[in-house]
Amino acid sequence: MPKTKFPPLAAGNWKMNGTLASLKETEKLMRMLDGKSPACDVMICPPFTLLFPMGEQLGDSIIAMGGEDCHWEPCGAHTGDIAAEMIAETGASACIVGHSERRADHGETDEIVSKKAAAAHRAGLTAIVCIGETIEEREAGRTLDVISTQLKGSVPDGSNAANTIIAYEPVWAIGTGHTPTTEQVAEVHAHIRKELAGIVGEEEAQGMRILYGGSVKPGNAAQLMAVENVNGALVGGASLKAEDFFGIIEAAYL
Ligand code: PEP
Repeated sequence: MPKTKFPPLAAGNWKMNGTLASLKETEKLMRMLDGKSPACDVMICPPFTLLFPMGEQLGDSIIAMGGEDCHWEPCGAHTGDIAAEMIAETGASACIVGHSERRADHGETDEIVSKKAAAAHRAGLTAIVCIGETIEEREAGRTLDVISTQLKGSVPDGSNAANTIIAYEPVWAIGTGHTPTTEQVAEVHAHIRKELAGIVGEEEAQGMRILYGGSVKPGNAAQLMAVENVNGALVGGASLKAEDFFGIIEAAYL
């Protein structure tokens, strides 16, 4: 099993959920992790409005913070958008780019995702680049081709194991309660590792973390995280409640 340069990562994606009241969940998570040494990094990616208060709340705790998206320009006439530099200023250390909900809701192409990942790098953030097939693509036997195309198009020049994380999220597994079999996860993650070698070079590909995302819960986390080439989880729904997110960390990494 390739040993990545970094510990696995359990990252929570809050999506468009969370108001100031939700900071009680991060407070609770900090208490639950207090005195524990999980064998993984822990991160929460809240909506933009919570980045500053959550950054202050997390302080020097072991929980890192990330944005959910960024624009590719550092500033300018892009009403409603947020630059990677603005996200970095909140204390965030990472930014998700190319989540399938952004690809579907906002028409984000691989080219746009690549520019966003490059913007994250420019701002000193780790880009968490999401890729994944739809159910139609899987049923047509096109999963690995789709993954190859998305990887080649979405991972920009200058990506390495320190500034980039790949998140494999089958679209049909997100928020549905359905997960691929461990064999299916192993097949795609091995393919990603192999394809990465052609994009970032063999050494960086071996060192790069590849997360699995899609209906990860406390009950299936240990099994999914034990799959070869799975270096952590991107967690949506189950990251909103401290007990559930802690349950995932506990099951897989404590
Ligand atoms: C996600 O949206 O990144 C995700 C994995 O969602 P869920 O865990 O809810 O399936």
